[in-house]
Amino acid sequence: MSFDKFNLSPKINEALATNDYINPTPVQEAVIPLVLDGLDIMAKAQTGSGKTASFVLPILHQYSQKEQPKRAKIKVLVITPTRELTLQVAQTFALFGKDLEPQPKIATIIGGQNIGDQLLDIQKGCHIVVATSGRLLEIIDKKQIDLSSLEYFILDEADKMLDLGFADELDAILKILPAKRKNLLFSATYPAKMVSIASKITTDAVKVSIENETETVENITQRAIFVSKEKRSPLLQKLIRENKFGKVLVFMANKRASDNIAAKFRKYGFLADSFHGDLVQEDRIYTLEAFKNQKIKILFSTDIASRGLHIEDIDCVINFDLPRSADDYIHRIGRTARAGKSGVAISFVDNETYPHFKLIEKRCNVKIEKESIEGFELEVVEPLKQKGDAPIKGKRKSKKDKLRESEQK
Ligand code: AMP
Repeated sequence: MSFDKFNLSPKINEALATNDYINPTPVQEAVIPLVLDGLDIMAKAQTGSGKTASFVLPILHQYSQKEQPKRAKIKVLVITPTRELTLQVAQTFALFGKDLEPQPKIATIIGGQNIGDQLLDIQKGCHIVVATSGRLLEIIDKKQIDLSSLEYFILDEADKMLDLGFADELDAILKILPAKRKNLLFSATYPAKMVSIASKITTDAVKVSIENETETVENITQRAIFVSKEKRSPLLQKLIRENKFGKVLVFMANKRASDNIAAKFRKYGFLADSFHGDLVQEDRIYTLEAFKNQKIKILFSTDIASRGLHIEDIDCVINFDLPRSADDYIHRIGRTARAGKSGVAISFVDNETYPHFKLIEKRCNVKIEKESIEGFELEVVEPLKQKGDAPIKGKRKSKKDKLRESEQK
């Protein structure tokens, strides 16, 4: 089933073909016609499902159908939980909108980058704003943004914003949006808090539920290797060398561990780097680009990379340290086997972390065979090591024996 049936603008169809978007994904099948019909949507969709294009394409199509005033007004506001996701959404708009006339102007509003440049983009006039909520509020407080002409309000990966005290921020943003607008909500899960937020934002939303998580995970070979903490690093080197993995994403428990091991791997001659929230925005972008272009082949990262990042062709995800939850596990391993490709996810487990891993398996409803690799077997703590056999008396000549022998000669 191709994209033709949506009757999108020819320029968008051309861009789809150029970018190898041949068939719509299930979420695109479901969501594109609803957005084209101007409905509010509450979609349950995972990252990797193709949800970004499911709203980008119909919104760009609607944009292409209308005469645009000389001075651009903000018609679309997308809010995402992270800077990286914001950039990715903005890039998707740019990718599919680049041949439309006039070309839609897109402003990216994120923390960690010069606010002056972002204000300038808004002042010059833009059609689409993709933002993280903190920086957007800063700009709203400065009264530097006019959202009164807004037509579409989109919350992407909304459940990930819940823990960040997002409800209050959202109230402040909603206050300045026109009441009549279309609302599109995308979330992987709908806990009670999310449902209550959803009811605040959307009106008579059509619910779309795409359970393609298992589909994505199905293309991933999940492995678990028993290995002691100290031997994880040499084992990782062996696995990378032997499997000739191109791009490997390695999840670490914290920033320091990530920096340290990346430095160690560089010393061993690997193209390795570290990615985490302490990096300044330029470094984050630089590192991700380098990983995308294979200038970096092994990226050690904290959970910041587990959500929503689109890096193609990651052959293998390693849980060097186990994730905290089953949810994080799914997000982490979902970085591989994207867009129909296959991939491997390997978790390192030891005696101490095994009960936690079993819990993850249970919650994810999977059973992963536990392996051990020759030369890296987990040292068994129990039973106590047997002492070696006692030396057999007389086998080796004592000094006294030697003396006696020489006297007899
Ligand atoms: P998303 O779920 O929006 O994060 O998209 C996941 C990845 O799939 C992105 O790298 C997209 O470029 C890619 N993608 C989305 N839809 C399609 C499609 N219909 N055909 C091919 N690739 C797609």
